[in-house]
Amino acid sequence: MVTIRQKLVSTLQAAKVTSGKNNAKKYIVIHETDNTNAGADADAHARLQFNGNIRAASWHWQVDANEAVQSFEHYWACWAAGTLVGNDQGIHVEICVNSDGNYNSALKNASSLVAKIMKDENIPIRNVVQHNYFSGKNCPRNIRNGRVSWSQFLQMVANAEPVQRRKTGTASRKYRILTGTFSNRKGAESVVEVMKIRFGWIAYVVQDGDKFRVKTGTFASEADAQSAENKIKVAKLAQVTYILVA
Ligand SMILES: [Zn+2]
Repeated sequence: MVTIRQKLVSTLQAAKVTSGKNNAKKYIVIHETDNTNAGADADAHARLQFNGNIRAASWHWQVDANEAVQSFEHYWACWAAGTLVGNDQGIHVEICVNSDGNYNSALKNASSLVAKIMKDENIPIRNVVQHNYFSGKNCPRNIRNGRVSWSQFLQMVANAEPVQRRKTGTASRKYRILTGTFSNRKGAESVVEVMKIRFGWIAYVVQDGDKFRVKTGTFASEADAQSAENKIKVAKLAQVTYILVA
């Protein structure tokens, strides 16, 4: 079940990156971010918009494997479609494709979000469209490539689970683990390999001066991060570990 929250862009900033408050809200437009970088999740995209995206671009929602985050109320006419009609009549949903996320879960969460928006705004499923519908852009790319077909996605929308509003206070706080330093990259890389193969985690090497550390992908709760930390100690992968709030 996807949890949703708002991190709304200020009116001042919204005025710079939208055409104003007259969105006709006729369509729900599906996009993918095309950003496969580790960490390029819904929270990162929401923060980008919140902090003042320097690109002349905006979108209402970003959704990843963990959550959906709303940046703009639906009445804003965001700049996401590449055409006037798409911008003035669409509610835009960006699906994250970050490599440390899970695409299928992100898609499932997107389908729940779309079902909720359809209900809230009284939009029929025939008006759930791809970005491509307006501008011809190859977006959403993975869906258009057939990784999960468009008709399968629409079926997921039809069968979607309800969404859950995030309780305040726990707003999408996620945790990563950072290890102590390794004197050479090879040592850190071998730890990354073990984490991937044995534990199924995403992890990567980060340079720290002339030393190296290993940083994991995110864990959904502090308790998850603590149990992961314990696994690292038991497997003797690193002597020192830190839990970071992502
Ligand atoms: Zn797009």
